[in-house]
Amino acid sequence: MFTVTPIPAFNDNYIWAISNPGNSSIAVVDPGDALPVLNYLQEHNLELAAILITHHHNDHTGGVNELTGKYNVPVYGPTNSRFDGITKPLKTGDSIQVLGSTLKIQEVPGHTLDHISYFSDQKSPQLFCGDTLFLAGCGRLFEGTAEQMLTAMNYFKALPDTTEVYCTHEYSLANLAFAAAVEPDNAQISTSIQNCERLREESKPTLPSSIGQEKQINPFMRTQHEDVIKAAQQFSGKASGDEVEVFASIREWKNQF
Ligand SMILES: [Zn+2]
Repeated sequence: MFTVTPIPAFNDNYIWAISNPGNSSIAVVDPGDALPVLNYLQEHNLELAAILITHHHNDHTGGVNELTGKYNVPVYGPTNSRFDGITKPLKTGDSIQVLGSTLKIQEVPGHTLDHISYFSDQKSPQLFCGDTLFLAGCGRLFEGTAEQMLTAMNYFKALPDTTEVYCTHEYSLANLAFAAAVEPDNAQISTSIQNCERLREESKPTLPSSIGQEKQINPFMRTQHEDVIKAAQQFSGKASGDEVEVFASIREWKNQF
């Protein structure tokens, strides 16, 4: 199990620093900005061993060139990315060794077409999912389709409930406000709002979430649930219970929320 530490960047991004006990090297996930990473390395007297990219957006990749100018490290990322700094292209079914631990790769397009996730399948599993799955939410569909994002959600749902979920943004409270609008009677959502409000008051990240928690609170993971289907039908004015249509309606509602 990796030790995972957030390096805050921009307004609400987390660059995840991952390490193993006793190791003086770290890997970073989605370094949109180099400076906070360089400061973190210096403050903790650490070396950079690898860079993991989930997708091409600049707030996930903007720091890569500066970091690789200082550290000669592999840059992992999607095989079909338009970001040209990737030196180790990855696709579904690939596994990589990072700091002595294995990460399994899955293509999870939807937010962008080049999106991958990294899954550490250990006793305490961990998932690095970029801008696909968020606490109580999912990424906007900038390039892909609702069907693709639903396929990604179904992959995440099949992971162990104990999997720690490390997404890239602190969007939890806004997502939970929307989740509560979709499912006003879901007590787990109310509990999560209380927990996240307390953490934010203490200026702490609300992450990681877990797959088990997301299955309880995340409307985009609950498109087979009766209350979510009804809410989607009310929003769209269509009676269809087709899961892709339900997902697309909830996503469109969130865009306007
Ligand atoms: Zn993005």
